[in-house]
Amino acid sequence: MSVLQTVKEAVGLDNHDPAFRCEECGNEFEYSDPDSYWFSCPECGNDDEDAFTSLS
Ligand SMILES: [Zn+2]
Repeated sequence: MSVLQTVKEAVGLDNHDPAFRCEECGNEFEYSDPDSYWFSCPECGNDDEDAFTSLS
């Protein structure tokens, strides 16, 4: 692994968080917690899997 690549990863340039739209409230948000199995809308708290549309 090159030094440049290491730096890029350190600052997150190579990583684009997956983006989703909540169909319940229309809020678009990035999901940036890969350690969590599931997530919910930060706007309305909706956690219905079917209500999220992937934008990425
Ligand atoms: Zn929502």
